[in-house]
Amino acid sequence: MSMDLTLETSEIDFLNRAIDFSRSAVAPNAQDWEDARQMPVDTLRAAAGAGLAGLEIPEQYGGFGGRFRLKARVAEEIARDCFAFSFSLINNMGLAGKIARDAPEELAKRYLPEMMAGEVFGCTALSEPAAGSDFAAISTSARKVDGGWILNGEKAWITNAAAADLIFLYAQTNLDLGWRGVAGFLIDAREDGVERLEPTQMMGGHAIGVGGFKLHDHFVAENRLISSPGDGFKAAMNGVNAARTYVATMCCGMTEAAIELTAEYASNRPAFGTTISAFQGLRWDLADAQTDVEAARLLAYRATLSVEAQSGAEIHAAHAKKFAARIADKHLTKCMQIMGAAGLKREYPLGRHIACARIANYVDGTTEIQNERIARNLIGN
Ligand SMILES: Cc1cc2nc3c(=O)[nH]c(=O)nc-3n(C[C@H](O)[C@H](O)[C@H](O)COP(=O)(O)OP(=O)(O)OC[C@H]3O[C@@H](n4cnc5c(N)ncnc54)[C@H](O)[C@@H]3O)c2cc1C
Repeated sequence: MSMDLTLETSEIDFLNRAIDFSRSAVAPNAQDWEDARQMPVDTLRAAAGAGLAGLEIPEQYGGFGGRFRLKARVAEEIARDCFAFSFSLINNMGLAGKIARDAPEELAKRYLPEMMAGEVFGCTALSEPAAGSDFAAISTSARKVDGGWILNGEKAWITNAAAADLIFLYAQTNLDLGWRGVAGFLIDAREDGVERLEPTQMMGGHAIGVGGFKLHDHFVAENRLISSPGDGFKAAMNGVNAARTYVATMCCGMTEAAIELTAEYASNRPAFGTTISAFQGLRWDLADAQTDVEAARLLAYRATLSVEAQSGAEIHAAHAKKFAARIADKHLTKCMQIMGAAGLKREYPLGRHIACARIANYVDGTTEIQNERIARNLIGN
């Protein structure tokens, strides 16, 4: 398989627009968002205004209709400035793409223009207070009634929950069926019976807008059942391969930006009559970090092509995410060490990045769950 992530001219233009937006609207503000411990809703709206929310939406609905490789590259570039904002934006795009692909046309026509205009944001809700890695154990219930379903339960740790009104929500239709009973619904949080919970306070990454929802006898019309019982679990697992892949490209972008910053700092930091960049131990730490980023990027781009080809993505994405999240954890801490006490300062992004490297090791399946996937392929259950 070719490892070339070549983009067409229009995709390069889109990517450059995303880069310009990120350098001008994300990079200078990311630390302020973290200080405020808030999701930057206005900037997310501005990103939509710059056309970014339409990346995955087909042209027939007024979107750009970009390939997955463009999404993976946009995610990577924005994560250089702020992993958290990139993750929020990409999750929002993901729901728009899903609505365009899988929802009935009347729902697509209703919601996609709002999403492209940044009037409404989206999220995907699998996790619950008592079910994270063990997704099949979710207990949010969907009970069949005339004309639709009644949903009850609680979702936790949901990206964009602080501001999202559209939720792709997985619920259990029949506990006896286990994963075969899981179905996927498109919920509008502006309707009755949906309670938005306070955003979750964490060690960092607040631009992600993580939070939760409670559903109290929430009625969902039949046309909002997008993935039927049995298909829901499989659809979620397919989506997760793409998510693991862009988390991997994001870790590459974030870690590489930190390596570049550290190399520049080291070249200017005087010590013992030279600069710290002259010390071979430090030089080699940075060289090793860069080698790992190059390797992680190859794995991530291979997974990107597998997601596009719909072949082999499960294993390729598991390798890519595991490796990229681990090297981000390892080398961002190293970068901070190389910068000495200065690395702790607010003016440098390393603290933010380290928190997001931790986050990368949990979202869309923990590092251990990637290993379980790889081991199952090697050894079986
Ligand atoms: C910032 C952020 C954003 C998120 N966004 C979303 C979102 O948008 N939508 C959503 O649905 N969820 C989201 N999540 C939740 C995320 O998917 C879960 O955190 C993840 O699935 C792990 O679940 P958990 O945290 O409950 O850990 P647990 O499942 O409780 O696991 C705890 C520990 O046990 C390990 N473990 C569990 N099972 C096994 C096993 N079989 N073998 C070996 N080790 C195991 C785990 O690796 C982990 O180290 C988000 C989480 C974070 C932190």
